[in-house]
Amino acid sequence: MWDWLYPPLCGVCEAPLHKTERGVCIGCLLRLPQTFFWRNPKNNEGYYRLAALNPNLKGVVCGFWYTSGSPLRKWVQLAKYQGQPILLKVAATFLGQLILHEGQVPLQEVRGILPMPISPERLRQRGYNQAEWVARGLSEALKIPLLKGYWKRIHSTASQIGKVRTERWISLQGDFICEKKLPESVIVVDDVLTTGATLTAALHSLPSSTDVWIITVGITQRRS
Ligand SMILES: [Zn+2]
Repeated sequence: MWDWLYPPLCGVCEAPLHKTERGVCIGCLLRLPQTFFWRNPKNNEGYYRLAALNPNLKGVVCGFWYTSGSPLRKWVQLAKYQGQPILLKVAATFLGQLILHEGQVPLQEVRGILPMPISPERLRQRGYNQAEWVARGLSEALKIPLLKGYWKRIHSTASQIGKVRTERWISLQGDFICEKKLPESVIVVDDVLTTGATLTAALHSLPSSTDVWIITVGITQRRS
C-alpha cells in the first residue's frame, strides 16, 4: 500500500517506477548502447580480444558499450561501489532476452553459468561478487543453471594493475582454481570486459575439455 505514497524509484535516474518495471525504468534500460555482438559471437571486438590466447573459446557476447559518456558507466559504478548490484542483474536479464530473441549462441548445448570469481578480500570488502549478479540475471533469462562453488580466486592482485599485459597475465595465472567437474560447455560471465587479461588467466584454470562462451554486460573501447 505504501507504493502509492512512495513508489519505488529507478535505481539509475530515480524517476518513480511504473508497476511493471523492476529496479530500473524502461527509459534507462533502452539508453544502454547496444553492441549487437549477440548476432555475431565469433566476429566482434570482444572475441578478437580473447580468442588468440583461449583455444576453448567458442564465442563472446558483451551487451553494451562501456565507453566514455556511456550510461552503463553509472550503472556499474552504482552496482560495484554503492551497493546496488541489482542493476547488473537487470542489465543481464535484458541482455539475456536480446540473446534469446536475436542471438546466435547455441544455448541448448550450454549446461551451466560460471561467474568470474573475486578474491576473498574483495568479497569481504564489497559484500558480494558483482559477476554473480550478472550470472543470476542471465541464468533467469536463459534458463541455464548458475554453477556456484565451482571456481575460486585465491588472492587479490589489485597491486599488480598497471603492469604490461603479458606480465600481468603471468602473475595472475596461479590465482584461480576450479574445484569441481565442469559440464562440457559453460558460459563464463563478468561485469565488464577490459583488456581480457584477468579473464584469460581465469580461463586457463578451467579444464581443456570444457567449451567456454563468455558473456559480459559491458565492453570498453579498444585502446589505440
Ligand atoms: Zn531510470
